[in-house]
Amino acid sequence: MVDSHCHIADAAFADDFEAVVARSRSAGVTRVMCILSSDTEEEFARVPIVQAAWPEVCYATAVHPHRAAAYAGRIPDVQRVVRAAVARVKAVALGEMGLEYHYDKAPRDVQHEVFAAQVALAVELDLPVAIHTREATDDTHAILRDAGQGRVRGVMHCFTGTLDEATRALDLGFYLSIPGIVTFPKAGALRDVVRALPDECLLVETDAPYLAPVPFRGKRNEPAYLTQTIAAIADLRGVTAGAMADRLRANFDAYLGRRRVDTPAKAVV
Ligand SMILES: [Zn+2]
Ligand SMILES: [Zn+2]
Repeated sequence: MVDSHCHIADAAFADDFEAVVARSRSAGVTRVMCILSSDTEEEFARVPIVQAAWPEVCYATAVHPHRAAAYAGRIPDVQRVVRAAVARVKAVALGEMGLEYHYDKAPRDVQHEVFAAQVALAVELDLPVAIHTREATDDTHAILRDAGQGRVRGVMHCFTGTLDEATRALDLGFYLSIPGIVTFPKAGALRDVVRALPDECLLVETDAPYLAPVPFRGKRNEPAYLTQTIAAIADLRGVTAGAMADRLRANFDAYLGRRRVDTPAKAVV
């Protein structure tokens, strides 16, 4: 199993990281994408610990929309900060970046500029992006189109949107990463979407330490709990958990490699 998005350098794992890794390994998690906030030194300080305990971990880094306000009036610093962070951990993707209109911790115009600067950097570095978008679908797509120049590729992380939103993301050539929310009793609409999507666009994530799936809901999430989320996705799609995990792992490899945006996958409507 491959966790396409989690925050295992977060302080939430500081006390028992080796036990978290041991549980993940025995659950069958073979690879993990660790998301690092480019301007959060505490997370980077934990990278050597993560690396030593779990060499299979790879990294993505960017400025989260929650932290965009710090760059008001100094947008060129965004690329400088992210570029340095990428070099520090040899990041294989840029993320998470995007727009967060639910909490609105930064003014929206500043969020737009910070996001656009990072999309442009991803194109320049030829790295995929991991997008965080909440209540901001139209603006997110506009920026991906404008700043991405038709060349940006990536994933909508923690996807919980409608089939229409999924189709729009697929038209951009993006992957959709399904979180543990798919196991929540009230997530029927998301389950319908997950049933309808083509195999080749799916990734899976924990977003640990957040969003633990049932039966761990409300507790700290960790990569081992991918088991529950993959089982739920497999059940929806009528395949075995093993076959689903294999497919998701192959998709993750493709996400980090090349996927032509001019041959996007189509949702089954
Ligand atoms: Zn996010
Ligand atoms: Zn996240």
